[in-house]
Amino acid sequence: MYFMFVRALHQSRVSLFLILPEKTLFLDLDETLVKTHVSGSGKPSPSYQYDFVIKEYHVKKRPGIDKLLQVATDYGYEIVIFTAGRSDYASPIIKRLDPKGLITHWLYRDSCSDSVHCIKDLAATGRSLDKCVIVDDKWSRVLQTENVIRIREFTGDMKDSELTRLLCFFKIEREYKDLRDAVRHVNYQLGYLKKRMSIWCWL
Ligand SMILES: [Mg+2]
Repeated sequence: MYFMFVRALHQSRVSLFLILPEKTLFLDLDETLVKTHVSGSGKPSPSYQYDFVIKEYHVKKRPGIDKLLQVATDYGYEIVIFTAGRSDYASPIIKRLDPKGLITHWLYRDSCSDSVHCIKDLAATGRSLDKCVIVDDKWSRVLQTENVIRIREFTGDMKDSELTRLLCFFKIEREYKDLRDAVRHVNYQLGYLKKRMSIWCWL
């Protein structure tokens, strides 16, 4: 698995031999950053307008992407796309999403630990688990669920504000030594986790 990530690094923009960044933000692609409609798929055309078309793929950007990439960069995060999509599909889309070149690495389906269920294993990326987070609408497909900032599936709705909402993570993350604690805080704040009632308060 680590070998696969190393191979992916060689395909990306930054050399493997650079010093590892202090913090890493992994971003899922489909239904997290974009909604893609395949022309000729037989499905009814969605009502929203596309932002761009690549081959047979009609792509809608989720509102707030540009701001998220810039804020994460300003806070010193290495940004890595980690998608279960194949490189021939995802790579041209990522390039269109990132004209400023803020995304440094791209990981595709062949970097998932299970080619059938496309499980994402952050430990296999060589990043320290207390210093990385992932934003993903399919949080059960990330092996380290405690690292997942949960987000609702993007359906193409232009009123969607999920990416803007999760910017609150960057306001509180410096309060935590372990980013997994900041992730738990934000997931509570955004309503994705319910606080457990403490047993001690009944004693
Ligand atoms: Mg997804």
